[in-house]
Amino acid sequence: MNRFETEAIVLSTCDHGESDRLVTFHAAECGRLRGIAKGARRSRKRFANVFEPCSLVRLECRQKNSYTWIEACNLVEPYLPMRADIEKWACAALFSEIVLGMVPEGEPHPAPFFLHKQTLDRLERDKDPRHVLLLALLRFQLLMGYMPALDQCEICRRALKTDRNWFWQPARGKLVCTDHFCHDSGYVGLDTGTLALIHYMRTIPMEKTWRLRMRQDMKAPLLTGLLHWFRHHTGKEIKSVGVIDQIFPDWGIASSIIDNHNGKPSTFPNQMLMRSNI
Ligand SMILES: [Zn+2]
Repeated sequence: MNRFETEAIVLSTCDHGESDRLVTFHAAECGRLRGIAKGARRSRKRFANVFEPCSLVRLECRQKNSYTWIEACNLVEPYLPMRADIEKWACAALFSEIVLGMVPEGEPHPAPFFLHKQTLDRLERDKDPRHVLLLALLRFQLLMGYMPALDQCEICRRALKTDRNWFWQPARGKLVCTDHFCHDSGYVGLDTGTLALIHYMRTIPMEKTWRLRMRQDMKAPLLTGLLHWFRHHTGKEIKSVGVIDQIFPDWGIASSIIDNHNGKPSTFPNQMLMRSNI
């Protein structure tokens, strides 16, 4: 029987059997972690209010018969101001959903956990939660080793600094210049400054991520591209996107991502989609 302690962020929770709860965490020590909280549905004293999604907790667990059992769970930070702001809460939920879909189970990889924790801290304090979300998603891509190069035209190898406007096809991770933008699949248009920011992020430590700033009009296409990219890699719907689209239609990211789950051609919102015939 192995016992261990770890700091963790609650990702999701559901009923398990008649009286237990099955809780999924993002844990510092072991990536994605699923544990059973015995009797949590019957006794509210033992695990009072500690399994709210996006809460930071301290876990005491034991492993027995190939299951992880949660012996104790203490609330470290409930992020109450963040929960009171629907835009911040939506960003936190979206980021957690992507973590849930991409962080492997049982693999020690502390950097994504610290990014997750920093993201929740920044969402609590920052006035522009969508900006925090974008930086967090970019950094997460980098940490997971999936960051596309996005540093030259894939066709002619033209360098970023030689043009202002670029076209990214997220599902293929492909970047092309104006001359080679002639396909009928969905692209998002990004400017050189945004691509330079992505490139620069590779060179700085995580703590400095939050100082980066990007053009306001680039946030929508970049978020659309990143969400398409994540959905392509996980093969899963991003449910939070539908909620965000209802609450913040001006973000303009959503319906295309949900509709595109079967691999059909993308239908990005018109203002962000660049097609060769428009
Ligand atoms: Zn080119």
